[in-house]
Amino acid sequence: MSLLTVGSVAFDALETPFGKTDKIIGGAATYITLAASYFTQQNNLVAVVGGDFPKEMIGLLEEHGVDTKGLEIVQDGKTFFWSGKYHEDMNTRDTLITELNVMEHFDPIIPDSYQGTEFLMLGNTVPATQKLVIERLAERPKLIMLDTMNLWMNIALDDLKSVLKLVDLLTINDEEARLLSGEYSLRKAAKKIMAMGPKTLIIKKGEHGALLFQEDRIFFAPALPLEEVFDPTGAGDSFAGGFIGYLAATNDISFENMKRAIIYGSAMASFCVEKFGTERLVNLSKEEINARVQEFVKLASFEIQ
Ligand code: AMP
Repeated sequence: MSLLTVGSVAFDALETPFGKTDKIIGGAATYITLAASYFTQQNNLVAVVGGDFPKEMIGLLEEHGVDTKGLEIVQDGKTFFWSGKYHEDMNTRDTLITELNVMEHFDPIIPDSYQGTEFLMLGNTVPATQKLVIERLAERPKLIMLDTMNLWMNIALDDLKSVLKLVDLLTINDEEARLLSGEYSLRKAAKKIMAMGPKTLIIKKGEHGALLFQEDRIFFAPALPLEEVFDPTGAGDSFAGGFIGYLAATNDISFENMKRAIIYGSAMASFCVEKFGTERLVNLSKEEINARVQEFVKLASFEIQ
């Protein structure tokens, strides 16, 4: 089944307790499409970059089977730039700089060949843009998943609430779930957020795993305790890409299959954090992914007599 991803393609500058990077390639849609490329062959991208974005990186996405027809290049514009600094625990971070640049007035054009997509991943970007994409699809996809962040809850809450009414699945982290719902208990938060539109909700808890909510059902997926975590940037997006890529590949959106998808998503996130930026995600094999998924199975299964 085909997947369409919309979201930021960016330059990031990162600071972790292990070091600092100058501008490297990042962006939600970059991580999502790279992670999804290990599962789905029809991997379409709608995003915008400036004339300063390296052609080689577009080539790298294409080598991973990502269709970049929908990647607009504004020759005289600047690519979205984000800079963040991680705390000692590597689980929390501060945004230092967000420069929307070409993303601010992005008019997402959907190529004709992307119409009819069964799976839509609205990666983190301006909520009004996310909504426009849904409106511009002639047929409603089988599953619409949306990722967002605290920034939009603070500066574009009405737009965010309006797009939430149209989506099937929302992924946010625990801090954002509390901010959006005003509830500390994640169970109460989930109920309130699902009443805003999405019937399914994933709350990510960084190195403590992720919770999947749907109606009265809850599933918990652990994160793999890793010996070394270099850079958590993109973990949430790699998770989303692995999750929806697996759903698209299996064409099954049942709760049971979402449980498997969450493990594949967690596996992709665990690879992402092992190196800076997209470095680890671009060089994976199916064998490595399957072996990692087995580690999750071992980590979380037990028998009770
Ligand atoms: P994650 O670590 O999965 O939450 O995602 C990190 C990526 O999100 C980085 O590569 C950033 O470029 C991108 N990002 C950060 N802030 C924003 C924003 N306001 N809008 C869109 N993308 C963003």
